[in-house]
Amino acid sequence: MSKRDYYEILGVNKGASDDELKKAYRRLAMKYHPDRNPDDKSAEAQFKEAKEAYEILTDPNKRAAYDQYGHAGVDPLMGHGGFGGGAGGFDFGNIFEEIFRGGGGGGFGGGGGRGGRSQVYRGADLRYDLEISLEEAAKGSQTRIRIPTETNCTTCKGSGAKAGTSAKTCGTCKGSGQVRMQQGFFSVQQSCPHCHGSGKVIEDPCTDCHGRGRKRENKTLEIKIPAGVNEGDRIRLSGEGEAGVNGGPSGDLYVQISLRQHELFTRDGDDLHCEIPITMTTAALGGDIDVPTLDGTASLRIPDETQTGKIFRLRGKGITGMRSGVAGNLYVHVVVETPVNLSSEQKELLRQFQESLGERPDHHSPKEGGWQQKLKNFFSS
Ligand SMILES: [Zn+2]
Ligand SMILES: [Zn+2]
Repeated sequence: MSKRDYYEILGVNKGASDDELKKAYRRLAMKYHPDRNPDDKSAEAQFKEAKEAYEILTDPNKRAAYDQYGHAGVDPLMGHGGFGGGAGGFDFGNIFEEIFRGGGGGGFGGGGGRGGRSQVYRGADLRYDLEISLEEAAKGSQTRIRIPTETNCTTCKGSGAKAGTSAKTCGTCKGSGQVRMQQGFFSVQQSCPHCHGSGKVIEDPCTDCHGRGRKRENKTLEIKIPAGVNEGDRIRLSGEGEAGVNGGPSGDLYVQISLRQHELFTRDGDDLHCEIPITMTTAALGGDIDVPTLDGTASLRIPDETQTGKIFRLRGKGITGMRSGVAGNLYVHVVVETPVNLSSEQKELLRQFQESLGERPDHHSPKEGGWQQKLKNFFSS
């Protein structure tokens, strides 16, 4: 199988620096990118070839292996797999992100359908942190938020040109936003340095936005919080982020939900937990207590001989999950309280009660009985 030499593919010397590799790859990627060569199988193949070469040679380990053993040293089929082999799983978009982001030019986003000429940017995504109460999370709510955002200037409708005038076609690139340059063998397209890729120049800028076409503004948004949202959920408001540039689509707004701490309930998934103190006598004799829920009070029967720490489940009294649509449970943790502020008569009654337990007080204290036995075992061993 004949496979071209990676250095040859990129058109660089064996000793090429990472920077030279990057430049070479960038040139080829520009030239052979499928967006620019629709339905051209040979361009696609060359694009993949260049990407593979670039990836191998910019990885110091793989490059060393390649220098020593040639293709056999880095054969993708021998290891992790996943280079240009299959038809699927080859993500062109990522490469563009990888190599062109921050590389100065930037911004091909969203331009595809518009002939890919003048540089079209999608607006930035925004994030808004919203703290809501547990009740709002459980039942859903409607709220208003104010967010600072870039919007298109209304005076010039985003064109940047003063009223009554309009932007002129850029003379340098004749409106295409791109200029061709010859570099070695390659003819390279670059963003026009005069109009920065927009294809237009503004001679008489709008005074409101100083020719930017955009303004920083606060906007108020009405947002609907779906019932059942939880800490960390994000609500996406499509197109409510910053405005795009040159007619590009707006970014999205992500509302990041966090929950305020509740006085009574803690939330665990769709379940709620609540701690309720009960009296010693209710614990011993049993009785009904009122339990708070998100929709009013519920009655809970405490059976006699209830110990502290016992957990009762109230089925379906939790939160109905946004995704599951199923109601969680409310777990009531009871805490038996020792009576305080006793009068001398009350203390006397308790003493009489203690005496009434007779010979085997541990018979009435299940934990203590076991505990005494453990103590005995411990000291006798
Ligand atoms: Zn304006
Ligand atoms: Zn231009």
